[in-house]
Amino acid sequence: MASTHTPAHPAGPAAGTRLLEHPGHDGPEPDDSGLLAVETETNRHRMPRQTRGASPLLGVTAVAATLGATGFASATPAAAPAVEAPDEAPVALAADPGLALAARIQQQADSQRTAAEEGARVQAAKEAEAKAAAKEAEAKKAAAEAEAKKAAALTLPVSDYRLSAHYGQSARYWANLHTGLDFAADTGTPVMAIGQGTITSAGWSGSYGYRIVETLPDGTEIWYCHLSSIIKGSGSVTGGQQIGKVGATGNVTGPHLHLEVRPGGGAPVDPETWLEQRGLTP
Ligand SMILES: [Zn+2]
Repeated sequence: MASTHTPAHPAGPAAGTRLLEHPGHDGPEPDDSGLLAVETETNRHRMPRQTRGASPLLGVTAVAATLGATGFASATPAAAPAVEAPDEAPVALAADPGLALAARIQQQADSQRTAAEEGARVQAAKEAEAKAAAKEAEAKKAAAEAEAKKAAALTLPVSDYRLSAHYGQSARYWANLHTGLDFAADTGTPVMAIGQGTITSAGWSGSYGYRIVETLPDGTEIWYCHLSSIIKGSGSVTGGQQIGKVGATGNVTGPHLHLEVRPGGGAPVDPETWLEQRGLTP
């Protein structure tokens, strides 16, 4: 007996523990409580569902009313007060095809006005663009004029010099009257183009020694004579650009630059007068 009881006892504490956990309830009782709990849970879950189920039912009329009111509110703002009396107003407004037509006409007019406004906006943008383009063209023209003026501006051919002979002077070593203006300077002194032009000739030229002929845009020839060195023998040059060096080549008594000005490539004129007319005083 004891031996059968003893093996049962080890299980006993376990049962005892269970009993302690559920004092006074054993056997089917926990199951019942469990079922109860499940039921309670279910009820708890069901309850809100039922409550919620009831509210949609209640809400159907409300939603219908709201839908009706909203529908008319979007159709015409005048229907907005219908929310206060949803039972009558929506029906009356919905049945009015005249209002719907009016709304459509209004919508059409609105879209037409929008198109007209868009057209005006595009036109204004085009005008502004044209104005900007004209302004830009004007600025470009001004810049080109400034550039042309700058290009037309003349400089003296030598920066450190002393005028040693003027135009029209006579001397026994000249066959005729002096045909140019002499800028006495040390050999090697830079000789600059007096303005923008093209070197049309460069080389030995008898009594002129080494000579560069620059042709200005208006056809005037500028002769740079007695050079010791030719730096720029061809091509276009800008005013102030060095083209050669002062020398004493040709028929000379000392180093100097003999400058001649020949309008149109014809007979020489007085370089001093010609330069002074262009704002330069040698
Ligand atoms: Zn000379």
